[in-house]
Amino acid sequence: MQSSEAFYEKKLTCVFCCKPFTSQRVRSRFSIPYQVDSDFCPHFRDGNHNPHYYFVNVCPECGFAFSEEFSDQFPLGCREVISSQITKHWTKRDFGLIRDLQQAIESYKLAILSGSLKKEKNAVLAGLCLRLAWLYRTENNSEQEKRFLSLALKAYEESFIYSDFTNTSMSELNILFMVGEISRRLEQYQKSVLYFTKVIQHNNADKEQKMVNLAKEQLSVVREEVRKGNS
Ligand SMILES: [Zn+2]
Repeated sequence: MQSSEAFYEKKLTCVFCCKPFTSQRVRSRFSIPYQVDSDFCPHFRDGNHNPHYYFVNVCPECGFAFSEEFSDQFPLGCREVISSQITKHWTKRDFGLIRDLQQAIESYKLAILSGSLKKEKNAVLAGLCLRLAWLYRTENNSEQEKRFLSLALKAYEESFIYSDFTNTSMSELNILFMVGEISRRLEQYQKSVLYFTKVIQHNNADKEQKMVNLAKEQLSVVREEVRKGNS
């Protein structure tokens, strides 16, 4: 099942303790999804590997977990908090080998804790919660999926309010779309309609036509869901 040619080893340096370690990455030709959901969750068949299993790097020395989106800045006082809440309790473990679903889930929980303690951007924390929700979706655990979708929603909303998505891979339209789509999935239909409309009417709408078209499609989906719910 797991052919080693599908993976390569990436050399990394811990952003917290600065020690070197390695983590696996999936080669792109072995990670082709057969389906992508409306919130961009990819699904893979046997023989393909989910690259999101390896999105988080976990330092085996200190337990700090981070993605490539993390900054290397630690606000004043955060280092002490991370030392006492993560490193002090860490038993050396290696997440640098091929991961199963449970290890992937654990790596995200460690990264959400690490990122929260270091006060990482809401847009980055939201992305971690969203990807963790996707992992739960693949094992049909809808309770945990919803729990992490709710956390992702809250973080995306805060990211929009404080505009902390600048210098991340997300544009304002991406953030607004995600708020609309996650709200729809959590049956918060009014909010969903409001945010899809914000995408469609945005000043940058003509520069990001693809996002606008997706928002239009999902707006009609959510309106249909509301209509069915009312009938
Ligand atoms: Zn470390």
